[in-house]
Amino acid sequence: MAHTLADVEPTYEERVPGEPAPRGESLNAIEAKSLRKVYKASGNQSAKEALKGIDLAIPRGSIFALLGPNGAGKSTFINILAGLVLKTSGSASVWGFDIDVNPRQARASIGVVPQELNIDPFFTPAEVMEMQAGLYGVPKRERRTMEILKAMGLDDKADAYARTLSGGMRRRLLVAKAMVHNPPVLILDEPTAGVDIELRRQLWDYVKGLHERGTTIVLTTHYLEEAEALCDTIAIIDKGQVVCCEPKEQLLSRISEKKLIVRPTSPAIAIPAVLDGMKAELRADGAIAVQYNPAETSAMSILGALNAGGMEIADISTVESDLEDVFLQLTSK
Ligand code: ADP
Repeated sequence: MAHTLADVEPTYEERVPGEPAPRGESLNAIEAKSLRKVYKASGNQSAKEALKGIDLAIPRGSIFALLGPNGAGKSTFINILAGLVLKTSGSASVWGFDIDVNPRQARASIGVVPQELNIDPFFTPAEVMEMQAGLYGVPKRERRTMEILKAMGLDDKADAYARTLSGGMRRRLLVAKAMVHNPPVLILDEPTAGVDIELRRQLWDYVKGLHERGTTIVLTTHYLEEAEALCDTIAIIDKGQVVCCEPKEQLLSRISEKKLIVRPTSPAIAIPAVLDGMKAELRADGAIAVQYNPAETSAMSILGALNAGGMEIADISTVESDLEDVFLQLTSK
């Protein structure tokens, strides 16, 4: 069945907050089978196969990360689910509703928090929420504007102009807006891109709160740290394909190596002999980087050895394996 995007208005379904949605057949919040997307060639741009047959099942109740570098196809995937991009082939469903067969229910089952902070500066959070509720056809008596704003820590800003809100508040307002029609699935597209550490943690707490109250969360990110801090399951997507999808603990256990960077009080000119046999590197700035496996040795024992060898240490830092390392480890298998 073919639909244009314009004839697929989302509908609102009455539901007790936190209760599972009543309909839909699948136990998965999201399912994709052989999902493909080819963007057609336009102008001097050649056609692009953004999704090359995605198979993915995101269980209800999970807090799920779609992790991948820029251009991997994450936004294309979620935009198809949200009804904003038409797929080329394959199938997808949201909360058991096939996006072709039941497009309205599929769209009503999902709330998407976009990347960009595009909020009209002359409306207040309460007005933004009411307009969005109107758009989704949420009956007045069922609107939960203040309740949602409160959950997002914005109740005292309900009547302030959006232009007076800080970046972190605007982002929380976008989350609140996506929750207006009480969708069982909330998707956040790169929720903390350009957000400082403190705000990032704050936002994580709010998202965790929503999850605890029963919302299935899917977030796209290119930060492993974010996926690690928030999510129970991580799928890695690269070049339009799912490279792996597994519980966080399992994935992280694959990432064995850590890096310790030691800055001596006077820059090192050679790798100290005490590090013989270890993967050590002398950096241009006179710091020493040591790669180690936490299962075999600890940062403390490396520091102890350097200290015993006569090095005076000014500063240390550790670097976690990042996405690139995970990729390297996965693709070298
Ligand atoms: P991600 O969200 O992981 O960064 P995207 O889904 O945005 O990845 O993009 C996947 C690929 O599809 C990229 O190569 C991108 O350039 C291309 N792409 C995305 N949107 C369009 C579009 N509207 N037209 C043509 N190509 C696109």
